Amino acid sequence: MTDLAPTPRVDRLVLGGEIVTMDPERTVHRSAGIAVAGGAIVEIAASADLRRRYGDVATLDVPHGVIIPGLVDTHQHLTGDRLIRSSIPDDAPPGSAIFDWVLPVHAVHTADDDGLSATLAGIEALTNGVTTVAEAGTVAHPFAVADALRGVGIRGLVGRWGWDLDDAPFAAPADVVLDRQRELVAGLGDHGRVRPWLTLVGHDLMTDDLLVGASALARELGVRLSFHISPTTSDPDQYLARTGRRPLVHFDGLGVLGDHVVLAHAVHLDDTEADVVVDRDVAVAYCPAAYLRLGQGVSRFGRHAELHRRGVRVGLGCDTENAGDAIDVLLAARLAAGLAKDAALDPTAFGAHEALEMATIGGAAALGMADEIGSIEVGKRADLVVHDARTPSWTPRGADVALELVWAADGRSVQHVVVDGEIVVRDGVCVTADLDDIGPAATAAGAALRARAGIDAPHRWPRHDH
Ligand SMILES: [Zn+2]
Repeated sequence: MTDLAPTPRVDRLVLGGEIVTMDPERTVHRSAGIAVAGGAIVEIAASADLRRRYGDVATLDVPHGVIIPGLVDTHQHLTGDRLIRSSIPDDAPPGSAIFDWVLPVHAVHTADDDGLSATLAGIEALTNGVTTVAEAGTVAHPFAVADALRGVGIRGLVGRWGWDLDDAPFAAPADVVLDRQRELVAGLGDHGRVRPWLTLVGHDLMTDDLLVGASALARELGVRLSFHISPTTSDPDQYLARTGRRPLVHFDGLGVLGDHVVLAHAVHLDDTEADVVVDRDVAVAYCPAAYLRLGQGVSRFGRHAELHRRGVRVGLGCDTENAGDAIDVLLAARLAAGLAKDAALDPTAFGAHEALEMATIGGAAALGMADEIGSIEVGKRADLVVHDARTPSWTPRGADVALELVWAADGRSVQHVVVDGEIVVRDGVCVTADLDDIGPAATAAGAALRARAGIDAPHRWPRHDH
């Protein structure tokens, strides 16, 4: 009698093509395929072998395909901006976008608006090959957002709006904010495709009590905590004035930092703060398109490539549809690579390979999910993206697939997307939600939202309706 492990019941094959695994050796398999069972990757082998052994199961046959791990977006606002996307002027003065646009719009957002926004964001993300989105901390109706993400089939972390100001939308005393966060974690559970995390607005818009409480709660509940800090010099200035210390030094003094914390942005760090991020194993969500759109100084002051080199878990984010606008992590990777080279006047230290790490396994590590997603390895969830290498940006094929992905491709060549073994995008179209129906509803909801918020949509150039 032989002692064989039971053969897993393979229920789907994805046969390439080329597989960019992002495993620890960064192996690239050619003419290979992936066998999936119960939503997990159970085998990576020659396509011909898999076809012979499991030929009767559902098969995505993509001999022209370049298969990469589902991309990870570590900082994505799923509500608020979506219904007014690409509307906030890109020459608005600092602060105006927040106080003249974002807050008035969020203040009148309904649960239906939140759900619709998240559905649209999920569709855009998936069709660009982004299979995991981490909500950035400004959701008023998190259960509506979670339902929307489940509906489109994207993997997500959902938090809820958290700040304890006196008079601001969705603000509450620190203990009430924390009770709401605890309620969300209990309500969403932590084992499905959509899970909770704790989110604070951050900046200088939180008391020390709230931050200390949130960090302790995250540790107690075993979830991550994320908040915004230092995309501009405003946060360091405010913390220096209030506490005499720069933000990361202050947070370290409070004992709130650790591997459970994901800082959004962290563009303006001094040397001591950078050391704190390294020493405390804090993760960072890096959103280069947003800083460029808003003129926040990343090309001069950003040190994300240095943090990555020093072992910090840096992931990429696409922020919002009025700060970066496109939910396309490959675009963010291209900006990350270019900014690092250009700012250092050195093309040798950080490039496409490192940026692709941030887009995949690095982002997964930043969110504490590297044992489940971020690479194509046996045992991980089957979150897979097929790029169609018959498209113009892939013709003819280059010598190095990382260069092709980061410098030449973007979401437009995404053909199929699989999450947990389930096809959610087929031939470039999201099959879990119908944009033909949702698009007109979104246009109407956006117009109604602007009207309720009392915001006119400005446009600089003359328009003639004919
Ligand atoms: Zn943000």
